[in-house]
Amino acid sequence: MSTSPGTQSRVPASSRGLPEGCERAAIIDPAAIRHNVETIASYVRPAKVMVAVKADGYGHGAVTTARAAVEAGADWIGVAHVTEAIALRDAGIEAPVLAWLHTAQTDFAEAIERSVDVGISGWELDEVAAAASSLQTPANVHLKIDTGLGRNGCTVADWPQLVARAAEHQDRGLISVVGIFTHLAVADEPDRRETDEQLEVYREALQVAEEAGLSVSLRHVANTPAAFSRPDAHFDMVRVGVGVYGQSPFADRTAEELGLRPAMELRTTVANVKRVPAGQGISYGLTHRVDRPTALALIPLGYGDGVPRIAVHAPVQIAGRVYQSAGRVAMDQFVVDLEDPDTPVQVGDDVVLFGGDSGISAADWGRAAQTINYEIITRIGGRVPRLVVDSAELAAGHGSTSDAVSAPGAEEGRA
Ligand SMILES: *Cc1c(COP(=O)(O)O)cnc(C)c1O
Repeated sequence: MSTSPGTQSRVPASSRGLPEGCERAAIIDPAAIRHNVETIASYVRPAKVMVAVKADGYGHGAVTTARAAVEAGADWIGVAHVTEAIALRDAGIEAPVLAWLHTAQTDFAEAIERSVDVGISGWELDEVAAAASSLQTPANVHLKIDTGLGRNGCTVADWPQLVARAAEHQDRGLISVVGIFTHLAVADEPDRRETDEQLEVYREALQVAEEAGLSVSLRHVANTPAAFSRPDAHFDMVRVGVGVYGQSPFADRTAEELGLRPAMELRTTVANVKRVPAGQGISYGLTHRVDRPTALALIPLGYGDGVPRIAVHAPVQIAGRVYQSAGRVAMDQFVVDLEDPDTPVQVGDDVVLFGGDSGISAADWGRAAQTINYEIITRIGGRVPRLVVDSAELAAGHGSTSDAVSAPGAEEGRA
């Protein structure tokens, strides 16, 4: 990044962070995804790794993420919806895929035809069996027990009936029960005893299933926080999302401390710079007024791009230095106080909201917006192009991956 702007001749912004003609982008690094998958796999081995790419890969691109994950050795891909799974199949992803959140409209026949495993919490079981029967093709299912999260999953009370019915369908050759899973509620707070209670309920549910004649090869429980903090929750496979994207699930441990690298960098350039007098109000509601003469930078990203309206004093790197946002984020833009009426910052200077070598994380934006890094990365909007720039290929001197838009200069600071 540029360092002391006064002493250096300036490289046009377009040749540093963003490719020619690109006004804003979320730059996605498959090398970071591969690194994170390998790091997590090394923690959980011999357990297998399922990488969650729901919600378009937490905003990174489901196909980009799934490809990188499989390249790095991920065994399974996980999504919420069958439609998300079908999109992966359409893109040529052949790895095993599990989809676990269904509605009365879900097309289970298509799931079976495209070899998508389905998670089953209750009512889905008979529908899946009926679809398998008419297709004359057995469905692979993973039964889900609610061990305490209170969201999806079969209740403990209904579990004996569900496993009995599943065993019947399996005996008729309509389904194959390959997995039993549950989801943890507080694994991001490793000391809470509710995780122990959930694991206890899970073990009992496995026992009940066993007694009903179901022996499964994939017992899976752990999300990213449990992959790192609860080895007793690894079982046969972990289902990891946020860590794969290089984000920490813990409030008190950074991604770097976990050995993870952020895979998304959100960039644009300064759209305007102007001097203002003390007392100048900023943005809708005039919730912020500067208390001294200063200069303001206009950042051309807003809540229409997924930058939370509620974020205040959020960190933003401009031309290599970190400043803070001021006033409300609007639909298309927000303002950064440059803290100096004679600022060297100019129109066109590089802006990084988070990621890359900025030292700013999506978690920092989460804190500024009363939310978490998961929501920040996942909600980056459709108006922001995703540029896939493989830092490993850049380092090896190959430009960019075949499906990528090349981003000259994006390798800066990533040595
Ligand atoms: C999203 C999701 C995960 C991954 O959670 P992370 O905290 O992102 O690792 C795992 N299991 C289920 C059922 C999920 O919905």
